[in-house]
Amino acid sequence: MCVGCRERELISELVRVVARDDADSVVVAVIDFRRRLPGRGAWLHLRPDCLHQAERRRAFGRALRVSGRIDTSELTETFQSASRIDTESVHEENRYTNS
Ligand SMILES: [Zn+2]
Repeated sequence: MCVGCRERELISELVRVVARDDADSVVVAVIDFRRRLPGRGAWLHLRPDCLHQAERRRAFGRALRVSGRIDTSELTETFQSASRIDTESVHEENRYTNS
C-alpha cells in the first residue's frame, strides 16, 4: 500500500523509503532503490503527489517508527526529478509520432 494516497498497489510499482541516521543525528528519508536496506520501510508511488500526502499526514514517522522530525528534502528532489523525466519522455514520444 502506498503511504501517500493509501491505494493498494503491487510492491513492484512502489519505491521503498527508509530512514537513514546521519552523523548529526538528523533522520533523513532516502529511497532504497534496491529494496535491500535493513530496517523498516515505507512504500509509496514515485509521484510528487503521494510524497506530499505522506508528509502531510506524517506517514513516514509512523511507518519508519521515527518520533522526531524526518528530513524529506532528498526525497522531494528525487520525486520531482523522476516526474520530470517521465514528462520529458512522453513529450519526446509525441514529437516522433506527430512528425
Ligand atoms: Zn500513491
